[in-house]
Amino acid sequence: MASPTAPVVIIGGDAAGMSAASKARREDPSLPVIVFEQGPDISYAACGMPYWFEGLVQSDEMLRALHLEDARRKRGIDVRIHHRVTAIHPEAHTVEVQDLERDRTFIQPYSKLLIATGASPVVPPIPGLDLPGVFTLRTLEDGRRIHRYLESRRPRRGVIIGAGYIGLEMAEAFRSRGMETWVLELLPQILPQMDPDLLAPVVDHLVEQGVHLHTSTRVTGVRQANGALQVVALQEDGRSLTVAADMVLVSTGIRPNSRLAAEAGLALTVANAIQVDERMRTSAPDIYAAGDCVAYRHRVLDREVWIPLAPSANKSGRVAGENMAGGHAIFPGILGTAVVKVFDYSLAVTGLTEGQAQEHAERFAGGVAASTITAPSKPAYYPGAQPVHVKVVIERATGRILGAQLVSRSDVSKRADIFATAITAGMTVAEFGLLDLTYAPPFAPVYDPVLVAANVAARHVQPVPG
Ligand code: NAD
Repeated sequence: MASPTAPVVIIGGDAAGMSAASKARREDPSLPVIVFEQGPDISYAACGMPYWFEGLVQSDEMLRALHLEDARRKRGIDVRIHHRVTAIHPEAHTVEVQDLERDRTFIQPYSKLLIATGASPVVPPIPGLDLPGVFTLRTLEDGRRIHRYLESRRPRRGVIIGAGYIGLEMAEAFRSRGMETWVLELLPQILPQMDPDLLAPVVDHLVEQGVHLHTSTRVTGVRQANGALQVVALQEDGRSLTVAADMVLVSTGIRPNSRLAAEAGLALTVANAIQVDERMRTSAPDIYAAGDCVAYRHRVLDREVWIPLAPSANKSGRVAGENMAGGHAIFPGILGTAVVKVFDYSLAVTGLTEGQAQEHAERFAGGVAASTITAPSKPAYYPGAQPVHVKVVIERATGRILGAQLVSRSDVSKRADIFATAITAGMTVAEFGLLDLTYAPPFAPVYDPVLVAANVAARHVQPVPG
């Protein structure tokens, strides 16, 4: 049973864990909160690492969101780095902890427990991915290893396996360092989070930037030859591809760190992520989970999905923290809103892609429809205007917006956020097309591309008769 005097215990000291710890302490400053973090770092901006390699950020210190001493002194959180939780005992309300520095194990009772263990890279079972010079990028420690290698070895040729978020951001980092860069992707398209039809200008741009991009390409092995690495791959047409490299980055996706939860008998769900309710409670009493290790409710699909992204980790951690301190906060779910910079382009997605919506077409009245427009980011006469490609996915019978994707050389992030807001509000394209948005030539045209996109999508609405 829970001892009321036992502390709140949090496993994991990054975005979700430290958000929860900070919020719990703000809600109830008398609440003892212990955070166990197995690594040396807490609360850092992993997403900033490609820009550190690129030289835009001067040091890894600048990527720290909260310093250890500030967490301890200013926020009163008992943060213990180099401490790994090895088991959870829900009945006894205790966790087993290994102190990695002193090499000892102890039992820690908790009143409430938060699992914020994040996710880890998936390394495909390809021979040679354990060779020196092959990296994954997830933690700040991974980042320091890569940075050291880049600075000390000055690699000239880099191969990136996987053309998702990390692969494309790192292609830019490699090129900015003057490295010859290959990106090898298993699927026929880059960025599987988006519909392929919008991506053609970005693929052209990658080639323009000197990236050797090979889609539909299966890496079969990495080996050492003549003091360098050799990446061997099989292309769709059956031809083999061999690339000599000084460095290989494996960015083939991630999986939730849910093993501790599973071993403790907690319910897992889609993609083996931890199942939680809207208050971030797991299936076991007094145990919460938040961040990349959990599945969230998708606000359009109204079902669980595993889309691990930093903004939802921060918010779900905060909600868990408030609830662990006795509050009643609700995490309402996600839209999977994301943006990524690929050299001069920005790409954003929110809600469902056309592909995803079609997979669930039976859930939508009259099925789904999608349309794409291209309109300038500013009036065409104003310097710096760039085409913005906008795709809108709607419920056909009602015109309710289900998703949007944007691609441009201009910044599409805030335009995507307008769609995220509208989808959350359940707006139709007819309502969206009449939104009162900003206009002045240096910023936007009188009909913003998002309004043009909604008006064109409105032509595809087909009310169901009767
Ligand atoms: P990802 O899921 O974005 O991309 C993985 C890519 O690897 C996919 O295109 C996939 O088809 C490909 N792939 C899988 N197996 C392969 C194989 N054997 N050979 C070649 N390609 C293969 O994952 P990621 O790029 O590793 O990023 C991990 C996570 O980091 C993301 O899920 C996201 O949560 C986060 N992230 C987000 C952003 C952002 O929002 N801007 C940026 C960086 C990282």
